[in-house]
Amino acid sequence: MTSYDYDLFVIGGGSGGVRSARVAASLGKKVAIAEEYRYGGTCVIRGCVPKKLFVYASQYHEHFEDAAGYGWTVGESSFDWKKLIAAKDAEITRLEGLYKKGLSGANAEILETRAELVDAHTVRLVNTGKTVTAKTIVIATGGRPNPHEALPGFELCISSNEAFHLEELPKSIVIVGGGYIAVEFANVFHGLGVETTLVYRGAEILSRFDHDMRRGLHEAMVAKGIRILCHEMLKKVSKDGDRLEVETLNNGSLTADVVLLAIGRIPNTQGLGLEAAGVATDPRGAIVVDDYSRTNVPNIYALGDVTDRVQLTPVAIHEAMCFIETEYKNNPTKPDHDTIATAVFSQPEIGTVGLTEEEAGRRYKDVEVYRAQFRPLKATLSGRSEKMIMKLLVDGTSRKVIGAHILGHDAGEMAQLLGITLKAGCTKDDFDRTMAVHPTAAEELVTMYAPSYCLRDGVRV
Ligand SMILES: Cc1cc2nc3c(=O)[nH]c(=O)nc-3n(C[C@H](O)[C@H](O)[C@H](O)COP(=O)(O)OP(=O)(O)OC[C@H]3O[C@@H](n4cnc5c(N)ncnc54)[C@H](O)[C@@H]3O)c2cc1C
Repeated sequence: MTSYDYDLFVIGGGSGGVRSARVAASLGKKVAIAEEYRYGGTCVIRGCVPKKLFVYASQYHEHFEDAAGYGWTVGESSFDWKKLIAAKDAEITRLEGLYKKGLSGANAEILETRAELVDAHTVRLVNTGKTVTAKTIVIATGGRPNPHEALPGFELCISSNEAFHLEELPKSIVIVGGGYIAVEFANVFHGLGVETTLVYRGAEILSRFDHDMRRGLHEAMVAKGIRILCHEMLKKVSKDGDRLEVETLNNGSLTADVVLLAIGRIPNTQGLGLEAAGVATDPRGAIVVDDYSRTNVPNIYALGDVTDRVQLTPVAIHEAMCFIETEYKNNPTKPDHDTIATAVFSQPEIGTVGLTEEEAGRRYKDVEVYRAQFRPLKATLSGRSEKMIMKLLVDGTSRKVIGAHILGHDAGEMAQLLGITLKAGCTKDDFDRTMAVHPTAAEELVTMYAPSYCLRDGVRV
């Protein structure tokens, strides 16, 4: 029988990789994990966590304004970008330490190096050039921002990675993209007082979301003062002294201190030695896996963003836990990618789970749409003109709730709980017999008694 240096070698110390390595090691397997940058990966180091801290920072401006309606006089306020960056960096370093502690506590070997495949069982540690062997390999190398190399002047632009480390807060920013990362950063920078323009080539931001959420958020962002240019693309970026000159497709011209490209992410598979190991990728470079996250090479698994299935932290972690069940617990388990609750940490937030109205109309013959739009109680005294939108989509035949969408404060928190109800297959009748929690915004979800309108064969009737 062949003997290997390790039972498991994990490439990539992000959400999926750390979970795979830690749990396998805690089961007594001999595990090593390699990370080329910082443990914690995208989510902890330059994704979800620092992003959410920035979101909080950017909301204080509105909190101070709102306070007046409640009788408070807030003294002169000022914002210190460098202080925020330092505090954020300290918290990220703390979290990185926790990730490493979890790994070493489980007896996984932590390697601070890039790793590349040599063959199906051999990995080269780039820092030392040493090779090691493993019975099983997990590739969890995530993704990176698409640099948009076709754009003249792309090298003058930044991605979300650099946005977390800007030396100075810019006075103005152009953000390119219509996905959640672009939208979230637009709200963050605007909230911190930066003149913000969002440029998106599509007809409406957040293409995969329900149309009411997309439109509602667009209007709310514009009302706050964010400029949104849809059906628009960048033609060229050039330097003009300290500033950047941006030419757009429709012959427009913009100037800004910073241009942030957020036009999607590409899988981290370049130079990984996949060909040498015989691992297949798709045309975008994502690793092709079966329902169990196994590649075409039986002892090599791939999970998380590098497989380009659903690019979210909890999904990468779930895929890692399914890998553990399949490989080490004799319990083959397929990751469940159905009905994933998620949030956009825009301002206002979007929380969503299940089908959009458009998808529901395509998949179900009869759909009941329950929709409420209202001013939240908190906005009455603050005088803020924002609206909340809540929407439930119900299959008219089975009465199952098949989609739930919220635009407004704490929508992400609500989506997490709604996710349980949709996963459990709750019907509209279950919602109706649930007592409201009063006074909350969420009570609207259980008090929308009559449909606002219905769809038959996808057409509003
Ligand atoms: C700005 C931003 C905001 C986000 N916000 C959210 C959010 O709010 N909620 C959410 O659920 N998701 C969010 N995400 C997505 C989330 O971060 C990813 O889905 C998640 O991190 C994927 O985990 P992963 O393990 O697949 O990869 P990653 O976390 O990206 O980890 C991969 C790791 O592998 C390392 N690596 C790559 N190649 C090698 C190599 N050859 N050798 C050694 N190491 C290597 C990388 O340095 C990286 O640390 C956000 C992402 C971004 C960019």
